[in-house]
Amino acid sequence: MTCVLAIDIGGTKLAAALVDEAGSVLFSATRPTPRTDVMSALAALIAEVTDTGPPPEAVGIGCAGPLDLAAGTVSPVNMPSWRGFPLRDEVQKLVGLPTMLAGDAQCFALGEHWLGAGQGCTSLLGIVVSTGIGGGLVLDGAPLLGPTGNAGHVGHMSIDPNGERCECGGRGCVERYSSGPNLVRWALENGWSPGAVHNSSEGRSSVPPGNPSDGRPTDSPGEPSDGRSKDLPDAPADGKSNDPPSDPSRWQSNDPHVTPSGGPSSESAGVSRVPGEKADARMLAEDAAAGDPIAVAAFERGARALAGMIASTAAAAEVTTVVIGGGVSGAGKTLFDPLERALDDVAGLAFVRAVQVKQSTLGVRAALAGAANLAWRAVRTPSD
Ligand SMILES: [Zn+2]
Repeated sequence: MTCVLAIDIGGTKLAAALVDEAGSVLFSATRPTPRTDVMSALAALIAEVTDTGPPPEAVGIGCAGPLDLAAGTVSPVNMPSWRGFPLRDEVQKLVGLPTMLAGDAQCFALGEHWLGAGQGCTSLLGIVVSTGIGGGLVLDGAPLLGPTGNAGHVGHMSIDPNGERCECGGRGCVERYSSGPNLVRWALENGWSPGAVHNSSEGRSSVPPGNPSDGRPTDSPGEPSDGRSKDLPDAPADGKSNDPPSDPSRWQSNDPHVTPSGGPSSESAGVSRVPGEKADARMLAEDAAAGDPIAVAAFERGARALAGMIASTAAAAEVTTVVIGGGVSGAGKTLFDPLERALDDVAGLAFVRAVQVKQSTLGVRAALAGAANLAWRAVRTPSD
């Protein structure tokens, strides 16, 4: 049995798995990301996994950005103790194997292409919509990483050159319209009163703030309902207590895979403007699903911005499939229905109109699957 070691590094969780060539997980483990000395925790996690299974042939790492692929360094926004940290070299020293590094959103795209919603497609755009918006491209079957590893930053594609200034310094970036906090910001600025729709119809108590599963959209965020999960790294699973797949806290974007542009924590996904209650994207989705007109308008506006970005990317690269994950994608039809309508309006050329937009089926496991795929590519075509 041959396998590779896949590692996924985020601001809240470290995950590692031994994955065979078919994508099956032989062993996996997770642990929380410590505030300091992350490398020691990662080394212990790697030892735990590699001591248990067959020896891996290569290592693939997906890490929250930003990163510099040329230097092999990472500076995850959520991990202040790593700035310009030579992650690739440190891991390579530790394991003595070919070690590949990519951004977590790029690994998300690669994972969905390999084992998830984009299986079998030629070219894929993966989008992670959460605190920020990240992305990754798989073109003609191969990941497009770029010289510094920053290809696929679709959240900072401008969909309105006259639009608002973005935190990145650009103008009119899609993230400014469609990320969780920006959906919420726009809704609040336009008079959204969180939970008002429930108060007026059935009483706010039916959707308590602490119970997001109550009244949330029916589509769960990225949890496969079909048999596809059987070959997947279902494992951050070992860290059941840490991040169970059904954990509704994923809506608050504390999933390390869904904060590629780096919201500092789950708390940042919410905006505290209503006394006693934190407005967040999950709550906005609940209100939109319940018919709150401002919440509906916020999702339509965000979906339209995404549609512009998707149509532009499809026109440039002829991606055939778009897979959307991240906490906001858990809104299901509340996001995807207006997105389909907007794409129908925005897209013109036949090959752009043919793009298939799908919800992630791997969810939090996509980046780990992508990291494994990255490692397998290294074994098949060794670079050194
Ligand atoms: Zn931007």
